[in-house]
Amino acid sequence: QDDQFKKVISHAKEYGYVFQSSEIYDGLSAVYDYAQNGAELKKNIREYWWKAMVQMNDNIVGIDAAIFMHPTTWKASGHVDAFNDPLIDNKDSKKRYRADVLIEDYCAKIEAKIDKEVEKAAKRFGDSFDKAQFLATNTRVVEYQEKINTTLTRMARSLEKEDLADVKALIEELEIADPLTGSRNWTDVKQFNLMFGTKLGASAENAMDLYLRPETAQGIFVNFLNVQKTSRLKIPFGIAQTGKAFRNEIVARQFIFRMREFEQMEMQYFIKPGTQKEWYEQWKQTRLKWHMSLGLGAENYRFHDHEKLAHYADAAADIEFKFPFGFKELEGIHSRTDFDLSQHEKFSGKKLQYFDHEENLSYVPYVVETSIGLDRMFLAVFSNSLKEETLEDGSTRTVLALPSVLAPVKAAVFPLVKKDGLPEIAQQIIDELKWDFNVVYDEKDAVGRRYRRQDANGTPFCITVDHDTLEDNTVTIRHRDTMLQERVKIEALRDLIKQEVDM
Ligand code: ATP
Repeated sequence: QDDQFKKVISHAKEYGYVFQSSEIYDGLSAVYDYAQNGAELKKNIREYWWKAMVQMNDNIVGIDAAIFMHPTTWKASGHVDAFNDPLIDNKDSKKRYRADVLIEDYCAKIEAKIDKEVEKAAKRFGDSFDKAQFLATNTRVVEYQEKINTTLTRMARSLEKEDLADVKALIEELEIADPLTGSRNWTDVKQFNLMFGTKLGASAENAMDLYLRPETAQGIFVNFLNVQKTSRLKIPFGIAQTGKAFRNEIVARQFIFRMREFEQMEMQYFIKPGTQKEWYEQWKQTRLKWHMSLGLGAENYRFHDHEKLAHYADAAADIEFKFPFGFKELEGIHSRTDFDLSQHEKFSGKKLQYFDHEENLSYVPYVVETSIGLDRMFLAVFSNSLKEETLEDGSTRTVLALPSVLAPVKAAVFPLVKKDGLPEIAQQIIDELKWDFNVVYDEKDAVGRRYRRQDANGTPFCITVDHDTLEDNTVTIRHRDTMLQERVKIEALRDLIKQEVDM
């Protein structure tokens, strides 16, 4: 698992997907830059989301609110008071960790033990193996599950009551050690606010304290009535947005999974009070379908329904994805009630109500939100696509089998040799295709090497111009996943590629 994750990180660097920020200065922790291919993949994921959420839904519109917001926004939203993580310092190593993440990691290790037991039993019993029954009856597994349940419940309860001494006691009882040094010499657990502060204004006396937004959602809430009035949308309707968010994350050791500067893709769906259960269920299913449409494998997703709810929610679930380090949250679906709009009414003194003509009454709408991290989605797609294949002749190839619609480069065009007019024809093909797709030219090394390079880069098609092209205007097109080659007319290329890569 660890090895696979290391491969993902080094592949992302080697093929120009993700670099550490400010690498020449030894980097900045939990901050990353998207390189030439990464920026394309990220943009394609964003567009794929935008198309599904905004373009395909008559009643959802998209906005682009500023990162800076009036500081009262964050008092109203609860972030100033409650956007905290419990922190614990290790006296020996001087390292700092999120206490809840340490406890969750501990439970994940037990979960891995359960998986092992299941695997062993499945092998032993073969076809007659009944997983559900095994999970319910095997005493060791049942004990493991109970341990996980009691641990997580106790942690949730103490965090809710802000009983940090109990969180610390739990860490000690479970004998959790520093993941880097193995030491167990912890100091007290403290609350730590995750928002980044900054100042607006030139002189020290007049400067206004601002925060970099920790979520994009509030930009939607404060614009709710402006958008509703100018779009004349009727409830139910949604407002979507993508954009940067900032959190001073403490545990930041999982590459782009947990960053300090990241991008969110959020949609707030405004509904009539009392209808939140239906909409919540519906958005859970709609969002899962969106994920399935990318073909990363249904077995890699699962829902995690929350028992411990944030201060604003009456129901919440995560869509978890199987990352190289296990199942983790990829997207959240939250039934946020009228919490945010009511709070903004209270703090701003402005009415944020919707007049329902059918019912002939005004109310503060309820909200169901879908919130996904773009960078996390990037990691899901990228890590799932990276494969090491053994071919029939025993050789291996590295292939980044990205969904074609998301691939940064759709086709690479090669002249078989660097002479006889083949490079010029290849260039002409590029000049035609580049109006519709991102395409590249490559003439270096033997064609086999060029194929391998494009496979590892995630390019779905390779097009080779050879001497027959001079005779009949045909080229060879090779498919990344099957490695099958066909001979096609140059004029047919555009439609052929389009069929596979169109959103
Ligand atoms: P986590 O429990 O992993 O910290 P969260 O529950 O705080 O996440 P939300 O506040 O619900 O996350 O944010 C919605 C989405 O934004 C998450 O599902 C995740 O995909 C993404 N996200 C949140 N924090 C980060 C981060 N530090 N880096 C990258 N993506 C993030």
